Parts: sequence; structure tokens; C-alpha cells
Amino acid sequence: MAILTLENLSFSYPDRDEKALENICLTIGRGEFVVLCGESGCGKSTLLRLLKKQLRPKGTKSGGIFYKGVEIDDLDDRTAVTDIGFVMQNPDNQIVTDKVWHELAFGAESIGLSQNEIRSQVSQTALFFGIEDLLYCDCDKLSGGQKQMINLASVMAMNPDVLLLDEPLSQLDPIASTQFISLLVRINKELGTTVIVAEHQLGGLLSVAKRAVMLDNGKVCHDGDASSLTE
Ligand code: ADP
Ligand code: MG
Repeated sequence: MAILTLENLSFSYPDRDEKALENICLTIGRGEFVVLCGESGCGKSTLLRLLKKQLRPKGTKSGGIFYKGVEIDDLDDRTAVTDIGFVMQNPDNQIVTDKVWHELAFGAESIGLSQNEIRSQVSQTALFFGIEDLLYCDCDKLSGGQKQMINLASVMAMNPDVLLLDEPLSQLDPIASTQFISLLVRINKELGTTVIVAEHQLGGLLSVAKRAVMLDNGKVCHDGDASSLTE
């Protein structure tokens, strides 16, 4: 069953003649692991941000984007915040608090969960990620790889159904990258979360993603087996 459906989606930024996205038609099933690829400037970030109501860029959109059959613009704010998680390229732009545990609690706090619920979300998430011993660390003392993992954990603490990631590996060294990819695989397999990850450098992603969608100049130029693309 489809979790996200894009119907003839086109988008242009203000004051730009050419479209950043043109007639995109895509159906993403529940539990899929999709890599969104293509050269820099092809429209990956624009597409991902249109899927997250709070990050939607300003401009002119035509066509439809449906999450579980509901147009994204019509989703209530809480669903749009919790159900669709977004991990950005640079963890320093997304980490907002001082301590790791606070970072994990922040989302749950912002939607007004009780202290007990927040505590339970934080401990479950810390257990899943194996980061109990980092909980009381200062975020600014963490390595780049640890920061991106905390970033991912804080998004996962909201239990999203869909996880969107915009070039999450670009600032990571090869070891941190491999660890991060294996977390994505576990999240997808064990929690059933639908994962859509935009990457310019495909690294180890092609071997774990079943499906690759490639954009070229705002249009889909490949949609199918990830293994048929070469790095
Ligand atoms: P990618 O993430 O694949 O590098 P983007 O979605 O960032 O691609 O960009 C797609 C196109 O939209 C590019 O031509 C880019 O220059 C343009 N673009 C991106 N952001 C903006 C913006 N805020 N204003 C105007 N044009 C933009
Ligand atoms: Mg981008």
C-alpha cells in the first residue's frame, strides 16, 4: 500500500523561469527503502522538502503530494511534525539543545507529551541506537559522526512512519558513513519505517536500497532497481 504518492508534481522557485521539478509521478510503498540520486542541482532537496510541510520551499507548486491519501498541505500540524521525519545534511544546523538526552526529548516535548512519555521515548530510542552512555554528554563535544547519529535518533524518537534524509553522509568519514547506513537499514527492517535518502555520492547506499529514483534536471530519469545503477 502506498504511503506517499506524487501526482504530476511540478515546482518552480520564485523569479526562476525553469521548473525545479517537472511532472514527477512516484508512488512510494510502506516500508520501502529508496535512494534519491542525481547530480547536484537536479532537484533532490526540493523534492524532499516538499514532502515535509514545515520545510516546504516558497514557490509555485502544481500537482499533488499525498501522505496516506491526504494532501500534504491538508495534514494537521502534529501529524506533519511527527509522522514525517527529516534529517538534514549538516547536523550542526539541526541540533538545538545542549545535552544528548535533551536533544532526544526535544521533539516529544514540543508536541506536549507527558514527562513519563518523554522519558520512555528517550530511553527506548537510546536503547535502539545503543547510545545510553552518551545521554549526558554535551552535544558540542561529539564527533561529526556521533552528531549525525544523535540527529537521526532525535528524529526517530518521534516514531515517524517516513524518514527523509537529505545527503546525510556528505559530512561523514567512511567509517561513520558505514555505521550510519547500517542504522538506516535497521530502522527500515526492524521498525518498518519508510526511508527516502537523497545522496549525490552513492557510497554504500546502492547495495542496501532496493529502489533508486534518479532525477535529471527536475525530471525522473530512472526509477527501479538500485543495483542496476553503478556508482
Ligand atoms: P539538489 O538537492 O539535487 O542539489 P536542489 O533541489 O537544491 O537540487 O535544486 C534544484 C534547482 O532549484 C537548482 O537549479 C537550484 O539552483 C534551484 N534552487 C534550489 N533552491 C533554490 C532557491 N531557494 N531559490 C531559487 N532556486 C533554487
Ligand atoms: Mg540538495
